[in-house]
Amino acid sequence: MAPKTPPWQDPDAIPLVRIDGVTRHFGDVYAVDDVSLDIYPGELFSLLGPSGCGKSTLLRLLAGFERPDAGRLFIDGVDVTDIPPYARPVNMMFQSYALFPHMSVEQNIAFGLKQDRMARAAIRDRVGEMLTLLKIEQLARRKPDQLSGGQRQRVALARSLAKHPKLLLLDEPLGALDRKLREHTQFELVNLQEQIGTTFVMVTHDQEEAMTMSSRMAVMEAGRIQQIGTPTSVYEYPANRYCAEFIGAANLIEARVIEHADGMVTLKPADWDGELVMAQETPLVAGTQVTVALRPEKVRIGTPPDGAGGRVRGRIEDIAYLGDISIYHVRVPDGPRIQVTQTNLVPRAEQPLTWGDEIDLWWTHRGGVVLLS
Ligand code: ATP
Repeated sequence: MAPKTPPWQDPDAIPLVRIDGVTRHFGDVYAVDDVSLDIYPGELFSLLGPSGCGKSTLLRLLAGFERPDAGRLFIDGVDVTDIPPYARPVNMMFQSYALFPHMSVEQNIAFGLKQDRMARAAIRDRVGEMLTLLKIEQLARRKPDQLSGGQRQRVALARSLAKHPKLLLLDEPLGALDRKLREHTQFELVNLQEQIGTTFVMVTHDQEEAMTMSSRMAVMEAGRIQQIGTPTSVYEYPANRYCAEFIGAANLIEARVIEHADGMVTLKPADWDGELVMAQETPLVAGTQVTVALRPEKVRIGTPPDGAGGRVRGRIEDIAYLGDISIYHVRVPDGPRIQVTQTNLVPRAEQPLTWGDEIDLWWTHRGGVVLLS
């Protein structure tokens, strides 16, 4: 069976969320600056960026806790710009979880349903459904202070899903968990989301978390979206230097275009003699200054084969041994330091490379991406 076209590539797909030219400023600070974005039903969409880039403000705009200064917001085809938070088909899970300390787990989950005046039997069924979904049946009668961090996180999730919102907004949902639990919970949350099909929009500053969990993500900087894409496309084809450096590590090599022909561009690197030949669909004019973003794992150590896309010789300045991989910092004479990662296939003691060694590095035509900005 042919793989299903993802909705963001389907011109007929109807988005669940449409953010259309939205701006929100606080005095001189443009927290969200003319942002447009479509999110489709069933997505787990991440807003990713450093502290202060505006991701929480964008989430709060969707929830209705902030009003835009310009632009419109649509959810499920309805213009919700002027609709208050409680009347939107949306729920928000806060980083603090905001559980009511004096209520039991089941009372916490039932709270929103009671406010909506749902019938008592229906509430009981819904709470039971949520306890089962989150596998917390045995915690139903406990109070929040009798729960671990991970259990509190599940209760908060159960409470925010209880009303079956069309859209769940999550502000750093795993921020309060320690690293091991966080990694485990990332997979659980994705499985849960797939099971129930609710659309999730999640704020995170953790790129690994966004990479692991998202269908797509938006990389933000200073109130603006720099790139929207799947984790793979953002990692493999960053739109610019900012995205290349924010998502994963990247060597940025300055170069000038010599010629472009047959889907290949020939470049002169600024800092060493020789040429780079990189795959490049869009034509580039000779003389254009570009940056090649080269991921450390795409750089190989050893004698370059004929037809390598790029090659350079350098001296090992540093080796960081991380157990599964080692990171080599290789200094090109009078040039940049190039980071190379290698999987440690043999024990460290048996590895031939050490500090001060002169080594050859190379990469393929598709090992790097040519960036114009
Ligand atoms: P973090 O990861 O630190 O939570 P963020 O990306 O979520 O950051 P926002 O909280 O959206 O960023 O803030 C974006 C910018 O808007 C920041 O410069 C912040 O100081 C400013 N800002 C946000 N809310 C207000 C407010 N109520 N009044 C004034 N400035 C605000």
